[in-house]
Amino acid sequence: MNVAIVTVGDELLAGRTTNTNATWLCERLDDRGVSVERVTTVPDRIDDIACVVDEYHTAYDAVVVTGGLGPTHDDVTMEAVATALDRDLEENEEALIWLEESGYSRGDLTDGTAALPTGSRPLHNENGVAPGAAVENIYVLPGVPSEMKAMFESIESEFTGIQTVRETVVADEPESALLDRITDVRERFDVAVGSYPGGSVRLVLEGTDAETVEEAAAWLRERVDVAE
Ligand code: ATP
Ligand code: MG
Repeated sequence: MNVAIVTVGDELLAGRTTNTNATWLCERLDDRGVSVERVTTVPDRIDDIACVVDEYHTAYDAVVVTGGLGPTHDDVTMEAVATALDRDLEENEEALIWLEESGYSRGDLTDGTAALPTGSRPLHNENGVAPGAAVENIYVLPGVPSEMKAMFESIESEFTGIQTVRETVVADEPESALLDRITDVRERFDVAVGSYPGGSVRLVLEGTDAETVEEAAAWLRERVDVAE
């Protein structure tokens, strides 16, 4: 399964907030064997959000959108997702009932709190108020990291993929000097190789068969200057 992540927020683009949601989601999805193919950050603007959601929901198996939920003026994500799917926004009765059962009276909730694209499955917010939504292959989650994580965990099982195995070999040689052995190991074994320099070079071998990955790592360890 492949997935695109869209993080929404002017504060992310201005560098005022570090995009920890994207990193956390990439890690969790990768752990499940899901291939994350795009991470895109867009401003709190309906057209910009709608444009990428529209493109990604046809290109990928699923799209995860975070940020910009709730009824305040700069929270436009639900409206943008509705626009992308050519749907209306409407108060979601199931979400309102859940909020009432959680202690919020309808009268006290700001108008639009539970407005989701028509036909959405509401995703309950265990750590906040604004509900998320699952609509077609799009999952809309809050921006507040604790709320986003709890909501993702409630839908995590819907993301499936092929588990891969990874082995890291840390080499104490310049990256350019390692090229011949990187080529060799890729030719000999059915593994993908990532090379990550910075002080020592981390060579990350990845594949679907644990034994093959282990053999490839052992082969490489014998042929590079392994860092202490
Ligand atoms: P609320 O319903 O409380 O308004 P929200 O879903 O609308 O939440 P935002 O308004 O976009 O979310 O952001 C709420 C908080 O979460 C902000 O403090 C923001 O900095 C933080 N936040 C938003 N997106 C991210 C992200 N991608 N990574 C880390 N923190 C984020
Ligand atoms: Mg907000």
